[in-house]
Amino acid sequence: MYALAGKRVFVAGHRGMVGGAIVRRLAEEGCAVLTASRAELDLRDQAAVREWFGRMRPDAVFLAAAKVGGILANDSLPADFLYENMMIEANIIEAAHRVDVEKLLFLGSSCIYPKFAPQPIQEAALLTGPLEPTNEWYAIAKIAGIKLAQAYRRQHGRDFISAMPTNLYGPGDNFDLNSSHVMPALIRKAHEAKRAGTPLTVWGTGSPRREFLFVDDCADACVEIMKRYSEDEHINVGSGSDVTILELTQLVSEVVGFDGEIVQDLSKPDGTPRKLMASDKLRAMGWAPRTPLREGIAASYAWFLEQQRAG
Ligand code: GDP
Repeated sequence: MYALAGKRVFVAGHRGMVGGAIVRRLAEEGCAVLTASRAELDLRDQAAVREWFGRMRPDAVFLAAAKVGGILANDSLPADFLYENMMIEANIIEAAHRVDVEKLLFLGSSCIYPKFAPQPIQEAALLTGPLEPTNEWYAIAKIAGIKLAQAYRRQHGRDFISAMPTNLYGPGDNFDLNSSHVMPALIRKAHEAKRAGTPLTVWGTGSPRREFLFVDDCADACVEIMKRYSEDEHINVGSGSDVTILELTQLVSEVVGFDGEIVQDLSKPDGTPRKLMASDKLRAMGWAPRTPLREGIAASYAWFLEQQRAG
């Protein structure tokens, strides 16, 4: 058991959806939360990261900083996704080692697994087959991060661990249609189609299956993992069930109140056919998500409307 109370806890990536949710969740832990804005600290800059760690001396680190994006962004900015993510994780993990950080949790994603991994995907499926080409740049960087945490455990005895969350969504999500993931994209599209009285366009065939987890549930799991997990192998963080993109479109339409036509854009890629994760290890720790999909979508839509109103 690693207690967070009284500790100095750095959340790297606090402006992102996951980092923001971890900061909210840490309010319950009685720890001092450290954050650094992008202007204050460029995580891709090794010297700056070393200097910041030397000065701030965190006890624990949640590594939730990453360059992230949906299927199109990943596919069109391969250099950014590979380079920036490798730099961020290498700089932070090395700096954490130098200043004797007691515990570090590195966050990855379900896209680290082979495209055709047996479902539900066990942690052991890592590096057993070829990756999905549309996001292999991001995946390779995240796999390097897992290995880096393991390497510092083995070579230096560091308590550095990794968690792989499934597709996340919720308040703080990116609703920009060119770079977003499917959930915020569908919420925005349903909202705009309802207003304009136009059809809602879904990319691809709508048949791929995806698992979704509400971001505050993910943050709760991350804090539990930080406190109670200490193994070489990464740990999956999923909700345990998946839906087709078409089912998701229907559910989002219901929540948003859109009842018009749904059309496909077959010029856009489908990506991996399915990526449901096996989260048995996490369940065995007694953790389960709390937010049903419909409720989470409603919370995410409410946040989107608030942002629209705020201009
Ligand atoms: P992925 O999980 O890495 O494939 O990333 P996404 O969340 O971007 O896409 C998931 C699935 O949703 C893919 O099959 C997409 O083609 C599909 N999809 C349907 N409509 C959209 C959309 O408007 N935006 C995005 N990003 N994906 C969409």
